[in-house]
Amino acid sequence: MLKGIIPFAHQILKETIKEGDVVVDATSGNGNDTLFLSKLVGNSGKVFAFDIQRQAIETTKDLLTNNNCSNVQLIHDSHEKINTYIQAEHQIAGAIFNLGYLPRSDKKIITQRDSTIRAIDSLAQRLKKHAIIAIVVYYGHEGGNKEKDAVIDFTSKLDQKQFSVLTYQFINQKNNPPFVIAVQKK
Ligand code: SAH
Repeated sequence: MLKGIIPFAHQILKETIKEGDVVVDATSGNGNDTLFLSKLVGNSGKVFAFDIQRQAIETTKDLLTNNNCSNVQLIHDSHEKINTYIQAEHQIAGAIFNLGYLPRSDKKIITQRDSTIRAIDSLAQRLKKHAIIAIVVYYGHEGGNKEKDAVIDFTSKLDQKQFSVLTYQFINQKNNPPFVIAVQKK
């Protein structure tokens, strides 16, 4: 069967992230991706997880505590500040974004075009060889199209000598289903 959007994003990260790696969840939200990354890198690795909403940080913290994960640094700040929080000596072995709004929460608090691009740009410059940024693009909400177009524009212009960039998308589904943009460092 063709993999769904989140399973596809997880699979490509799982194939490239190893125990001991340093990885990023750029939008921790309800914490499911943070937990997934935490298990992949294990106790010798480290996850940096960002979210601008207190509620998302708290939900993620509870999920991690219930799963005995202690390798995550939760950062209540914008993902565009990656270089402020992650020391320059760390190469990034993988990252995930879930764009859009936090489900069952304020639909007005959404990821924004400019900060999303800055975060992708900062991460791309720090990727380890073969590391992947998986961007799950939700765009059905107000403002979503503007961000989607900008992310496609930015990532499609990344130098093909340095990066492979693809989209994974179901093109016959209704209601603007999410899709993946994956950026891999060569
Ligand atoms: N739409 C997805 C979930 C997106 S969650 C779904 O349906 O599953 C997106 C998260 O990004 C939210 O928790 C939101 O608070 C967070 N966010 C928005 N802008 C951000 C920023 N600049 N930096 C970090 N997190 C941000």
